[in-house]
Amino acid sequence: MTTFRAGSATDVGRVRANNQDSLLVREGELFAVADGMGGHQGGEVASALALEILGQAHDDPSTSTLVGAVRSANQAVFDKAGTSPDLKGMGTTLTALADVDTREGKRLGIVNVGDSRLYRARGDRLEQLTEDHSLVASLVRQGRITAAEAESHPQRNILTRALGIDEAVAIDSWEVEPVAGDRFLICSDGLFNEVDENRMIATLRRFDDPADAARELVRLANEGGGRDNITAVVVDVVSAGGGAADEAAADDEAAADDEADDDPTTQPQDVVSPAVPPAVLDEEPGASAADLDAEADAADPASRPRRFTWRVAVFFVALVLLVALVVGALGWYARNTFFVTIADQQVTIFKGRPGGFLWFDPTVELRTGIPVADVPEAELADLEAGVDQATREDADNYVANLQGQIDQLAAGTTTTTTTTTTTTEPASGTGGGAGGGGGDGTKPAGNA
Ligand code: MN
Repeated sequence: MTTFRAGSATDVGRVRANNQDSLLVREGELFAVADGMGGHQGGEVASALALEILGQAHDDPSTSTLVGAVRSANQAVFDKAGTSPDLKGMGTTLTALADVDTREGKRLGIVNVGDSRLYRARGDRLEQLTEDHSLVASLVRQGRITAAEAESHPQRNILTRALGIDEAVAIDSWEVEPVAGDRFLICSDGLFNEVDENRMIATLRRFDDPADAARELVRLANEGGGRDNITAVVVDVVSAGGGAADEAAADDEAAADDEADDDPTTQPQDVVSPAVPPAVLDEEPGASAADLDAEADAADPASRPRRFTWRVAVFFVALVLLVALVVGALGWYARNTFFVTIADQQVTIFKGRPGGFLWFDPTVELRTGIPVADVPEAELADLEAGVDQATREDADNYVANLQGQIDQLAAGTTTTTTTTTTTTEPASGTGGGAGGGGGDGTKPAGNA
């Protein structure tokens, strides 16, 4: 008999509004992750329903029962999607690991549809056992992009298979030998897109308790950005039913891996490969994705966009509103003030901030017609720098005040000028006549 110890964690992440991932841990026999997609509540409904049905229908420990349960889950999600416009087009991934009996003894049955993953950690090696049913995975298999390019590919969310999209679905299923000490990780893409495999294996090795490991993996995914819902189910094989086989596999990792590679029963195989008609998209994928989608459709007729555009639309509307708000606030700050300065040789009122603010340039509000030459010396430096005024009224008052000073000075200056003129006129007259020597000439005359 195979015994397990399991722990799990799931989190909405740091970007999404709700958690559309679901997980199932039925101690000792069945472990699964489903990553839902679809507008409104669709994704949550799809993933939760799929695992509910999986749990109910997997009532016998065999891989064929497990596959049948996935097929029932597909049908249930598909039927439910037809009952409400809100749920239309919903779907989900499903990756499950189950304790199964075979004629050869205890095995671990695996089923997979979509791009959630099952990894096996054995010693310091992490091995992805499932194959992603995603556009980028097809492109990698076709040699058209590299695995590294796939990791950052903008279309990496596009699935080529999911539950609930059609009445028929292709399901990968196979079995592996349970080996004591093996640790399995079932996770949604929100985990492996944020945490690289080196950190995954390091984390899986560091925490003895599977629940601690799962929680830490989710925490790391959030730390990495948390751009999607994150789910991790960690399953330890505490003791394996086989006995002798365990030790052989555990002692020689390479041999175990080779065996897994060579043994046809351990290879992913399509249990059902129906001729699915090309997908008709209910919601448009991004325009730039159109070509890739077409290619994906050609490569796999069950292609579907993973994420729905309403999310993107809501995000962009929110972003645009935020930007508008910020621009508005900056504009208000930049423009909701006045200053008085010298422009074109006259005192001028500007709206805005001296020198402008960001891309908001001040604009001329009023040319006062007061020439720079009339501006009192004391005010000139300030005016040249620009004198801030909170309101237009303040600016007008400032200018009126300035005009007042000028008028006053003009009146004073006239008197002074007159006085000066009267006192200096004879002197300058004399000076003018006497030239360089006039200065001396006036002196005695003045003194006299
Ligand atoms: Mn996801």
